[in-house]
Amino acid sequence: MLTAESVWNNCLKFVKDNIQIQAYKTWFEPIKPIKLEDNILNVQVPSKFFYEWLEEHYVKLLKLALTKELGNNARLVYIIKMENTFGNLKPFIEKIPSQYKSNIPSQKVDIPLSNLSTELKNPFIIPGIKNLKIESQLNPNYNFDNFLEGDANRLARSAGMAVSNKPGGTSFNPLLIFGGVGLGKTHLAHAIGVNVKEKFPEKTVLYISAEKFTQQYIDSVKKNNRNDFIHFYQIIDVLIIDDVQFFSGKTGTQDVFFHIFNHLHQNGKQVILTSDKAPVDMQDIEQRLLSRFKWGLSAELQRPDYETRVSILKNKLFRDGVEISDEIIDFIAKNITINIRELEGAIISLIAQSSFNKKEITLELAKNVVDKFVKNTKREVSIDYIQKIVSEYFQMDVSTLQSKTRKRHIVQARQLAMFFAKKYTKASLASIGSQIGHRDHATVLHACKTVDNLSFTDKQFRKYVEDLSKKFTI
Ligand code: ADP
Ligand code: MG
Repeated sequence: MLTAESVWNNCLKFVKDNIQIQAYKTWFEPIKPIKLEDNILNVQVPSKFFYEWLEEHYVKLLKLALTKELGNNARLVYIIKMENTFGNLKPFIEKIPSQYKSNIPSQKVDIPLSNLSTELKNPFIIPGIKNLKIESQLNPNYNFDNFLEGDANRLARSAGMAVSNKPGGTSFNPLLIFGGVGLGKTHLAHAIGVNVKEKFPEKTVLYISAEKFTQQYIDSVKKNNRNDFIHFYQIIDVLIIDDVQFFSGKTGTQDVFFHIFNHLHQNGKQVILTSDKAPVDMQDIEQRLLSRFKWGLSAELQRPDYETRVSILKNKLFRDGVEISDEIIDFIAKNITINIRELEGAIISLIAQSSFNKKEITLELAKNVVDKFVKNTKREVSIDYIQKIVSEYFQMDVSTLQSKTRKRHIVQARQLAMFFAKKYTKASLASIGSQIGHRDHATVLHACKTVDNLSFTDKQFRKYVEDLSKKFTI
């Protein structure tokens, strides 16, 4: 008789003969056969990423293998096991890949907020109701164990630890984690939530992106249950909102969040926020909200140093069950320095390249992959470099450009430097100002506006902008 195990074992034999052993170990060994119903094989995979990877890279192979075993009507259903830190039900979320869709209605793979929205509609949600089941929406794969420590994240990481040991009970309330793209804000925010749930299972924790929060709020206004929305958030013990810079310019959402925040804070509840900017650099966020953000601790995640990059790479490879020589790790860590997501991306494409082309992972292959990565990522030019180029263009010294003089051509050069610094770097207005002749952020803002205006109205000036732009974009 056919069983899920026997069918899967035969599939595995077929797969093993057709791909590299390393790829096999990484992507196929962790799969568990769960059940077989007629010609439908259900297999369990460890994460959504895993499922997507299989779908993207091995779907043909899997289909072949499965057809061999179960005939032309073979179907494969992935079950993504989401470990739920809550310990309540809903262990499985299923998704049927598009190729196999015909007979079976498909469901979404996502950490569902569906529970949340039914709760929101529910009129009986009033503050103080305990035992209300709220899915925390946490990703257990983002925890402290695999959030490696380094100089660049030590403060934020330990503040996160402190908060999770005593949610609402430290002066880090709110805890605002800020830093550039791919430096671990989301990871750390989840880790705090996961840790709180481990230590205080009775606490209600909720992770939500600012974007989703905004959508929910807009929905609640449409459906006329704004108060239910507010009440719902007011019963949370630990509220984690990711990417609050998304609130900028959205006054309605800011207003509602302000009320929720005040309520939580007054009641000793913990608020954790992440943002891609420091509070001083956030734009179009109401002053009263900004001042709340600064009440607790703002901790920055900076770019990881070389040692940290190496340990992150090693840790990632270890978890993926892939071995790569130290020489290659060193090479990647030295060449990809901007952010951690790119480090991980390089590793993933390295593994992919090697399994597609059935090649060993060699230094040469690593060089190719890194080359592509580095080329494809826009290099950030520095403010110093911009000042140097602009000064050369106008044949003056950098110190003249930075000087206090009001001579028109010097002022213009300075304004252009500020304009390009705003355009091509991620530096804040304040930081641009302080680097270009110790000016304040208002001066930089004014410079940007002037350059914008003049390039419309003044032909000669437009030529300056075009010439200089070319120098920065090659
Ligand atoms: P952000 O939210 O700041 O854009 P993420 O939290 O999404 O960044 O992190 C990007 C990737 O880098 C994630 O896969 C995350 O697990 C990984 N990462 C970030 N910081 C660390 C760290 N200190 N140790 C290990 N992995 C990390
Ligand atoms: Mg993020």
